[in-house]
Amino acid sequence: MKKLPLVLIVEDEPAIAELIAINLRHHGFTPLCVEDGDSAQQALAEQIPDLILLDWMLPGAASGLQLAQQWRKQPRTAQVPIVMLTARGDEPDKIAGLDAGADDYITKPFSIQELLARMRAVLRRRAPLALGAQLQVGDLQLDGSSHQVRYQEQVLKLGRMEFKLLSFLMQHPERVHSRSQLLRHVWPDGEMLEERTVDVHIKRLRQALGDAGALLHTVRGVGYRLSASAA
Ligand code: CA
Repeated sequence: MKKLPLVLIVEDEPAIAELIAINLRHHGFTPLCVEDGDSAQQALAEQIPDLILLDWMLPGAASGLQLAQQWRKQPRTAQVPIVMLTARGDEPDKIAGLDAGADDYITKPFSIQELLARMRAVLRRRAPLALGAQLQVGDLQLDGSSHQVRYQEQVLKLGRMEFKLLSFLMQHPERVHSRSQLLRHVWPDGEMLEERTVDVHIKRLRQALGDAGALLHTVRGVGYRLSASAA
C-alpha cells in the first residue's frame, strides 16, 4: 500500500489549520493538526512526520521560531524538514526563521498552490522518498511509494530498520558513513545507542540483500559505503 507523507501542522488558528489539512489530504498527504508547542512535542514523541508546517506566532511558552531551534538541536527531529508559516513579511524575521533551521517560509495570506509547491520542493531536496521517488544504485532499486526493494528485478524482503538503513545509504551512495553518522541519521534515538547496533543491522541488511550484499562495503576503521559496484 502507498504510504502517504505525514505532515505535522502546528497552527493555532483553527480555520487556517483546517483549510491546510483539507487541501493536504486532497493532494495525497496525511495531515496531523496541533495547536501549540506542547501538543506538537507530544505528537513528535509518538511519530516523526515527513515534514512540519510551523506557524511563527503560537500561544504558550515557545514561539514557532524557538520550536524550530529546539527541534533542529534534538537528534530525533534534526532531519525533519520545516516550513514556517508567518504573518510577518519583514526580511529580518524571514532570515531569523531560516537561521533557526527552517528549510523555507511562506507569508500569510498564501495560496494553497504555493504552499504545496514549496512543500514539494523542500521534500524533493530533503526527503525524496516521502514523495515516492525511485532510488537506484547499480542494479539495486528502492521504490519510495511501494517501499519495495529489488535487485536485478527480484524483490527482496527487508526488516524495518534494514529498510531505513538502506534508504539512507541509497540516498548518499559512494560515500563512507561512520557508525555514529549512521546512528544519527537512521535511528530516531541514535545518540542513546551503541555503535555496534549499526554493525548488527548492517549484517542483517547484507543477509537480506543476498547477492546485492556485495555492494555494501566495509571500510575498515571508518564505516560503511554503498557502491554501484561490488568489492
Ligand atoms: Ca498563529
